[in-house]
Amino acid sequence: MNPWVAKVVVLAANLTMIAIRAPHGRRSRNVRVVRSHKTSLETGLLALAWIGFFIPLIWLASPVLSFAEYPLRLGPFVAGVICFVIGLWLFYRSHADLGTNWSITLEVREQHRLITQGVYRRIRHPMYSALVLYSVGQAFVIPNWVAGPSNFVAFAILFSLRVHAEEQMMSEAFGDEYAAYAARTKRLVPGVW
Ligand code: SAH
Repeated sequence: MNPWVAKVVVLAANLTMIAIRAPHGRRSRNVRVVRSHKTSLETGLLALAWIGFFIPLIWLASPVLSFAEYPLRLGPFVAGVICFVIGLWLFYRSHADLGTNWSITLEVREQHRLITQGVYRRIRHPMYSALVLYSVGQAFVIPNWVAGPSNFVAFAILFSLRVHAEEQMMSEAFGDEYAAYAARTKRLVPGVW
């Protein structure tokens, strides 16, 4: 397959993701943070996530990563597009359900509510599930050993070093309500884990 097809799909997926997040990012700036758990580890993880996000854009815009290119095949391409579609849908839904409770880092906001409905009904981290799907989609669609997995690797590190601190923060903020929610839900995959 022509690698330009992959470039068009990756560009469209990135623009869709930015368009979904932008209004929430703007709105959340106006909601006061009452407790921040933004440690230096969190700052490092966010920097890593940005690097993982930008490497595919470098692949899109310049030939510097061409040394790691391999041929694009139909099977992985189709699998990747399916991951993108489901991942972006879940990203949209989780932002809609979280509303002003969303933060890019670990923060409790003014009038923070525990969301347990919509895509949060069966799993506690649907936005992270969405980002896993999205980054797996990139690994399939981008025929490049560096740019393909970059987002997945960065996100896997962020997730594994953040999830316990996030659940601890939510548990401190919501006590028994969060304990009951955690007891009846899984983390990323409904009914599995
Ligand atoms: N881990 C969640 C949310 C990611 S955004 C997901 O993957 O869907 C991270 C912020 O969301 C955290 O700082 C926390 O303040 C907030 N948050 C996480 N789970 C929440 C929930 N169930 N209800 C309300 N806010 C939540």
